[in-house]
Amino acid sequence: PLIPPSLRATALIDLAALRSNVAALRAHAPGAAFMAVVKADAYGHGMVECARAARQAGAEWLGAATPQEALALREAGLPGRILCWLWTPGGPWRECVEAGIDVTVSARWALDEVVAAARAADRPARVQLKIDTGLGRNGAQPADWPDLTRAARAAEREGTVRVTGVWSHFSCADEPDHPSIARELTAFRTALAQAADAGLEPEVRHLANSPGTLTLPEAHFDMVRPGVAMYGISPVPRLGGPADFGLRPVMTLAARLASVKRVPGGHGVSYGHLYVTPGETTLALVPLGYADGVPRHASGTGPVLVAGKWRTVAGRVAMDQFVVDLGGDGAAPGDEAVLFGPGDAGEPTAEDWARACGTIAYEIVTRIGARVPRVYS
Ligand code: PLP
Repeated sequence: PLIPPSLRATALIDLAALRSNVAALRAHAPGAAFMAVVKADAYGHGMVECARAARQAGAEWLGAATPQEALALREAGLPGRILCWLWTPGGPWRECVEAGIDVTVSARWALDEVVAAARAADRPARVQLKIDTGLGRNGAQPADWPDLTRAARAAEREGTVRVTGVWSHFSCADEPDHPSIARELTAFRTALAQAADAGLEPEVRHLANSPGTLTLPEAHFDMVRPGVAMYGISPVPRLGGPADFGLRPVMTLAARLASVKRVPGGHGVSYGHLYVTPGETTLALVPLGYADGVPRHASGTGPVLVAGKWRTVAGRVAMDQFVVDLGGDGAAPGDEAVLFGPGDAGEPTAEDWARACGTIAYEIVTRIGARVPRVYS
């Protein structure tokens, strides 16, 4: 059995697979340092446990989006380098400086804030400067970059800042032939040259997410920053599944059937009666719903392995439960239903769910809710 007897459902997290994925990714980028991206509760896999496993596998850096995530990693006792990158005005920058967390700055006003935080903390802030090479989110515009780098260098000279990194993020690295890739690499190299002109000597220059790590060696620079591939999900499904990149899926989502019953033909199933039984049949109730992260878009499309066969979500996914039609097959309450996993035992994968719901596997795993206990092995 996958699920401990007292639980209704479990997200099993295979930390050995995660460690092996880190090793596989490192082998793709042998000269580069490794940042394990553990933001968003490690894409739903459990931030602290995954961060520890990644560290065991040799990740020098941990990557978080928010400063709160970075501070939570420190509070959980994770030493070493941690970078966060979502800057909001008035954030806990002094706490970050005191906790030795590297923070990302994309604009002068943010640099001013971090300098103030460093003065308050009475120690230099570790800052990484971000350039917008074409993604159009944060990151300094190329026109503002020389000024930002000079201001950061001036802050280094006065001792309030140490610029530890310069970085950016791809817009279309998951489309290997996209013309933006070459453009963004050129823009990044230009930004690095300008940072050097300003006198900055960052420890790490980095650009590559999972697709960049796996398919663009020229984008590795000093460090790679994979997220989704570390969780065993192919970042470029067009080029191959996880196994083609030497990766093993980390999460398996399973639930124990909450009810199994015979119903007559013509029986409407779940809200709105989108599904009506075509004849007498057996309906099984899976106790996971959209509050647990099972997308409502999976209504009528999501695949589930029950009693040895793939079934499809019958009717609407509700907040806490959905139904599958077992036809003439039998099952018993308590039997396990597997929504997704590595696929080697015949179960669907997160990628199958993404296709069924018109989204990406990133979203499928990341949204598995806090109500689903994670069980680590
Ligand atoms: N770097 C940054 C700045 C990110 O925001 C992310 C996630 O989107 C990653 C790296 C990891 O991306 P991926 O999961 O595609 O490897």
